Amino acid sequence: MFLIPKTMQAVVYRGANNLRLETVPVPRIGPNDLLVRVAACGVCPTDIKKIQYGTVTPPRIFGHETAGTIVRAGARVRGFKIGERVALHHHVPCLECHACRHQAFAQCSQYKRTGITAGFEPAGGGYAEYVRVMPFVLPGVVRVPVRNSFLEGAMLEPVNTVLKAVKRLALLRGDTALVAGQGPIGLMFTRLLALQGMRVVATDLLPTRLKLAREFGAVAVHCPESKVQRSMSNVQPRASRFAHHASPITDHTLTTLVHQLTHGRGLDAAVIAVPSDAVVREAQALVRGAGQVLLFSHTRRGDQTSLDLATVCVDEKDLIGSYSADFRLQAEVARLIFTRKLDARRLITHQFPLAQTAAAIELASHPNADSLKVVVAQGFGEKSG
Ligand SMILES: [Zn+2]
Ligand SMILES: [Zn+2]
Repeated sequence: MFLIPKTMQAVVYRGANNLRLETVPVPRIGPNDLLVRVAACGVCPTDIKKIQYGTVTPPRIFGHETAGTIVRAGARVRGFKIGERVALHHHVPCLECHACRHQAFAQCSQYKRTGITAGFEPAGGGYAEYVRVMPFVLPGVVRVPVRNSFLEGAMLEPVNTVLKAVKRLALLRGDTALVAGQGPIGLMFTRLLALQGMRVVATDLLPTRLKLAREFGAVAVHCPESKVQRSMSNVQPRASRFAHHASPITDHTLTTLVHQLTHGRGLDAAVIAVPSDAVVREAQALVRGAGQVLLFSHTRRGDQTSLDLATVCVDEKDLIGSYSADFRLQAEVARLIFTRKLDARRLITHQFPLAQTAAAIELASHPNADSLKVVVAQGFGEKSG
């Protein structure tokens, strides 16, 4: 059914900021593996960080937000057919170890292993034409419905990480939550929280992103930099609180907005989808007593913060984090994306061919006003839209 060549093109990480398009062997599979021809692979900030700072040893083939077609199945594999269109999951927990019994799946040692490779030390492999899918990640393989695109399939992994984080929030329907940062991840938070009946206040420096945040269900948006604020409550546009040195009257703009939306109570939760210490401190001040501040973008180790710890101890404001995905949520994530309740297509603004993976990573790491999710798409059999 599929003619599989002996060699393929792959983008190989050869050291910090050194990606090369190379010809490598198509991965050989064992009796319990699948071979998948990659159709689309999202560019993820965690890979960007590893590539740009050279934090892991080369050579590797990155890319872990992968969708494609099963082209070969090992003799002992059951439940999968050649020709099926699938989305992959590169980490799956064992469900039995101490960490898993505590549902801390991202801390499970099996989970930390990467079960998808295009060669070398397994690192996802999505920036190659073919990947080998190992048996321990087969429970994470999801079929992509006929009406949906591979691009949508490639969005399962990032949306899963966001849904996992949303589930860490102790929110009640009608609660008010801030989502700071409306990049692809922040927009997913905005949409998922709005779908659960929360009133979302979305902030970003880019008005184009705030417009989309509105369309994704935010009840109020706030742009610190452009000195424009719009909301469905009757808050008048005012200058940013970050411009408070210029005028003391315009100081607490976001504070005023939150005050109005919550009748002075404060936010029930804040999601920080930008790696900014100042935003964390601002959010910690804006949440009510016993509210939650969730960190999603603070992935750099060694950063110090000057948080008033009495806000945690006395005011019972929880500072929590969330990292990576929860594969038990795959069915729920698939439903959200494939029914287009969360229309992932709107988040994908740029597609690059495999040979231009470096350019894709460059754009994703330096987003402009029009760029959101960047995907490396190999196009074969891909439906538009
Ligand atoms: Zn990712
Ligand atoms: Zn485990």
